[in-house]
Amino acid sequence: MSHLRPSPITPTVDFERDGVQHGFLRLPYSRDDSAWGSVMIPICVIRNGSGPSALLTGGNHGDEYEGPLALYDLARTLDPKQVSGTVIIVPAMNYPAFRAGTRTSPIDKGNLNRSFPGRPDGTVTEKIADYFQRELLPRTDIALDFHSGGKTLDFVPFCAAHIRPDKVLEAKGFAAVEAFSAPWSMKMLEIDAVGMFDTAAEEMGKLFITTELGGGGTSRAETVRIARRGVLNVLRHAGIVAGAVEMQPTRWLDMPSGDCFSFAEDDGMIETMIDLGEPVEEGQVLARIHSIGRTGAAPQEIRATMSGLLAARHFPGLVKAGDCTAVVAVLVD
Ligand SMILES: [Zn+2]
Repeated sequence: MSHLRPSPITPTVDFERDGVQHGFLRLPYSRDDSAWGSVMIPICVIRNGSGPSALLTGGNHGDEYEGPLALYDLARTLDPKQVSGTVIIVPAMNYPAFRAGTRTSPIDKGNLNRSFPGRPDGTVTEKIADYFQRELLPRTDIALDFHSGGKTLDFVPFCAAHIRPDKVLEAKGFAAVEAFSAPWSMKMLEIDAVGMFDTAAEEMGKLFITTELGGGGTSRAETVRIARRGVLNVLRHAGIVAGAVEMQPTRWLDMPSGDCFSFAEDDGMIETMIDLGEPVEEGQVLARIHSIGRTGAAPQEIRATMSGLLAARHFPGLVKAGDCTAVVAVLVD
């Protein structure tokens, strides 16, 4: 059973020590330009006595920026005197992907958020997943994993938790989402939950929340402000940082079924017919895909299979067959 093998990753921080430590998860990676080299994944531990523990992560996908911006900032500014318990910050989980500015790792093409539970004797990406699975998640009471749309999607800014079989944990998740206080809050459905960090955390019985805060392979001033406020709010909500949660109005969205998602069936140039956050009627044309190889061809129409509002859209101007073109969510009132 390979999972009994110890992780090859060595942390340069001590998770039991009080104070602030800035260090690395050092992952040996022997390669042409560094025979005995390592991948150095930045990590910060801020601890003040016993108490609850939060694991705050960004860069699970390497082309999403609100989380890393908020978390490098928090690591630099959070005073341990403000903390009761432990805050573990990994602002760029899939550090090779983050350095390359790509969703997946340039080393092994690994999508970290499809690689859980990982393997200690697997690829670099699988080794990172395994370390979170066996070393970091078990130390955690609440995990917040930041995502955004990356280079190929754009979202209305929301914090999310999943529908869970354990309704007590589900309610705690939604309460933490409410505390994050993004403009939108989502009861989230995954296209394919196998191998996700979310799934690993939830199967361990952990409180887990996530975000989608924009996209397009960049960040915006507003979405970074949402991330910075949200992470502090979650720490206050968890009782790790003192003070009242700075609540902001939020509107709840639900993704009730796979009908939320629309996919391109042809390659071409996409024309999004409505903008993020706008209402959608069932049957309405969400997007048109124009053939670029010839003139005279009618565009393929992508119609909404349910009513709601546009929560996400494909970002680049060109699409390929199979790309997710739009996500419709239902407003819960
Ligand atoms: Zn992501």
